[in-house]
Amino acid sequence: ETVRENAPGAAKIMLVGGAVRDALLGKHPTDLDVVVSGADVIEVAEHSGLNFKCYPQYGNATLSLPNGNHLDLIQARDEYYTFPGASPTVMKGTLEQDLARRDFTINALALQLTPEVRLLDLHDGLSDLGAGLLRVLHPLSFMEDPSRIVRGARLAVRLGFRLEERTLSTIPDALPHAASAIKRLKSELMLVFQERTPGAVFETLKGWGAEELYGFGDLTALKRADEERRRGEHVPTETLMALWLHSFPESERKQVARKWQIPKRTREVADLIQPGNFGRMNDWEFLYWCLLNPEQAREYEVLRLTPPRQVTGRELLELGMKPGSQLGQLLEHLKNLREEEKVSSFEEEMQAAKT
Ligand code: ATP
Repeated sequence: ETVRENAPGAAKIMLVGGAVRDALLGKHPTDLDVVVSGADVIEVAEHSGLNFKCYPQYGNATLSLPNGNHLDLIQARDEYYTFPGASPTVMKGTLEQDLARRDFTINALALQLTPEVRLLDLHDGLSDLGAGLLRVLHPLSFMEDPSRIVRGARLAVRLGFRLEERTLSTIPDALPHAASAIKRLKSELMLVFQERTPGAVFETLKGWGAEELYGFGDLTALKRADEERRRGEHVPTETLMALWLHSFPESERKQVARKWQIPKRTREVADLIQPGNFGRMNDWEFLYWCLLNPEQAREYEVLRLTPPRQVTGRELLELGMKPGSQLGQLLEHLKNLREEEKVSSFEEEMQAAKT
């Protein structure tokens, strides 16, 4: 409202992207992207009367809203690709051109705010939003930027949408151009790990015949992590990334980690985790081991992500015990003590375990 009411006369302003999509789906968007044409973003930012930071080199300004959220003001752009997968050449453009360069029709919807408020649906995004379809704006879209395939897989999983048939059929021609889009594929990979169920995103890519974009292997452990997250458990990003890396054959992991710039500690976790080393593992590393070895984790009662009420195998491993029959016997012994009411708290059980 503030931006709309105080906009300079010639400015054409529209809310774009995920915020419009999510609002139409009944979700509450927090990141607001607003595109400006016919006026300079800095001028619009100044008129708004709100606090802002500006980034003239990108034609952007970030406004701080009274509710603590942020609103990004972006100069309307046009862009073209000199070769498939290349970084686009960008120039000032109209609102229409700005919408035409977007990835999917549901992301090309806009709420125009000035001179009047109206929904701009220039690419039939509204009907695709209703039908749960992800459709590119033109057949060369994936070829221009193969990282859009990954954006599509993230959205498909997050929103429960399908890739429209003709869009799907453009994937094979786009894959050979992935190497030139490596930088964007790298950022998309990190965003996959920010999604709630990354295993499902990789599986979706596989279903679309696009697994070669990242070339992962067996997804079983990663899908196990998805399950934990669906049940509301906390599984940190590092654990997911380590499990993804683990899906590759051992001989390839080093090279894969280097290609996608996986942090050193994540890369090395497989070597760090040896029986007897559990005491030195932090939470995400421990979880990594549990998800890779669910049978053992269950056997020692360590696949537990909520705070303990009684001593389980996990605490015993943390005390430095090795997996094995002794650990099983100690668990049995503690169970007897509980049943005989010889211990009545977690602390007492720990004490008994130590002695
Ligand atoms: P979310 O932030 O919820 O994942 P979003 O759609 O806002 O969703 P952003 O990455 O913030 O995602 O991108 C904002 C908008 O910019 C998108 O809605 C899309 O219209 C456009 N966009 C982003 N990346 C691309 C791309 N590679 N090609 C074309 N358009 C893109």
